[in-house]
Amino acid sequence: VRSDALVVFGVTGDLVHKMVFPALYRLVRKGVLDIPVIGVASSPWTEQELKEHATDSVRKSGEEIDQTVLARFLGLLSYVGGDYKDDGTFQALGKALENVSRPSFYLAIPPSLFETVIRGLGASGLSRQARVIVEKPFGRDLASARKLNEAAHSVFPEDAIFRIDHYLGKEAIMNILYFRFANSFLEPVWNRNYVDSVQITLAEDFGIKERGAFYESAGCLRDVVQNHLFQIVALLAMDPPAYQGYDAVHDEKAKVFRAMRPLDEKDLVRGQYIGYRDEQGVAKDSDVETFCALRLLIDSWRWKDVPWYLRSGKNLPVSACEVLVEMKPPPQRLFDDSDPPPGEGRSNYLRFRISPNSAVALAVRVKSAGKEFVGEQRELFLQNEQRGEEGPYERLLAGALSGNRSLFSREDAVEAAWAVVDPVLSRHQPVRPYAIGTWGPAEADSLLGIDDRWHNPNPG
Ligand code: NAP
Repeated sequence: VRSDALVVFGVTGDLVHKMVFPALYRLVRKGVLDIPVIGVASSPWTEQELKEHATDSVRKSGEEIDQTVLARFLGLLSYVGGDYKDDGTFQALGKALENVSRPSFYLAIPPSLFETVIRGLGASGLSRQARVIVEKPFGRDLASARKLNEAAHSVFPEDAIFRIDHYLGKEAIMNILYFRFANSFLEPVWNRNYVDSVQITLAEDFGIKERGAFYESAGCLRDVVQNHLFQIVALLAMDPPAYQGYDAVHDEKAKVFRAMRPLDEKDLVRGQYIGYRDEQGVAKDSDVETFCALRLLIDSWRWKDVPWYLRSGKNLPVSACEVLVEMKPPPQRLFDDSDPPPGEGRSNYLRFRISPNSAVALAVRVKSAGKEFVGEQRELFLQNEQRGEEGPYERLLAGALSGNRSLFSREDAVEAAWAVVDPVLSRHQPVRPYAIGTWGPAEADSLLGIDDRWHNPNPG
């Protein structure tokens, strides 16, 4: 059943300006969005100010503006001003929703206020027949995630809760699921007998920008590993879903999270770029990591003893995200050249490029022209078309408004993922400094097996 209004808490904030207004504009252009969009925040804005702000956001997103579409979009917007801690705000919102029976409430607000707003919606009766869309981060450790789930469930049933991990709406991430299960050649080798190791790198060539205060409360592990990188691991590691439908995929993913071995101090290297402590909003003696590298094990029949190396950081040499699934070498060496030179990785690997573009590459060895049995490593490379690509927010919001939960995280998966990182959130070694523009502290190499080295993705 489709929602008949979208209420955006945090409508004056950064995320809505950067991502949400442009996504809503595109949904209007496609003819998918034609319901009232009501913004709620504490600034004393007029409706006109909200519309100017929304126009500015669409313009800055680089979207080509069609004046008729823009007018239709702005016509949907209205504003309710008030503090979320104040009952009066929910009463005013109730008035704005008088003719609405199934609203979706989108919480694009600081996580410290998630519970306040959820309880406000419950107490005012506005939560009846409604959906709630919750921004990340969902909790900051296992205990807080549980508490937030309890609070959400005291007001909304699970099938009305949409937990955002925008990676799930990315084209290249959705392609992992598709590529694995729309082909038959992968499954026989997709296990500990053939896969040597898996690496995932999410690199950013910029720092924390103006979000120092936010980053100080998060750090790399909380910001991208427990959610984005673990979601990628789950899609790569899950068993084939046995039937169609929402729960089939989510059940298999949840099993992966449960099979992940909780992290130990020795599985983790934390780094901090030199200069981080001078950033605005950052403590002079901050111990927050802007880089982390970890070795993850999945204790299942399929993956037992296969190391999963995960790495992410700010101010690294490039902005890119890639997965490398390295296959074991052939059981016998028939040709003198069959070991790739150091740095070239293994003979066979599958590489998923997640960003900035979406691609899949399969590395194979082929004989070089000439008489001898000497070969070289080549990539069979498939670039996915970028044509008409939808952004993740467009896809997620359209999904939530129509009640499709396939691109959202389920309660048990979120908690199981927190349980994996929980042991190292409070008990860990100090951060290692690294210079801006490098691949993080050298200690990250010590996580790898003796034959392994980190795969550094290329830029653009
Ligand atoms: P933000 O810029 O600080 O915006 C916070 C919003 O909440 C503002 O609209 C603010 O309204 C409103 N607000 C805060 N306290 C309020 C109160 N007591 N009563 C009424 N309104 C209140 O935050 P953000 O960066 O957009 O982040 C929002 C959410 O998105 C967070 O959960 C964050 O983790 C998530 N997120 C953000 C990004 C990003 O790049 N920004 C990326 C991924 C996820 P007023 O200013 O009018 O008071």
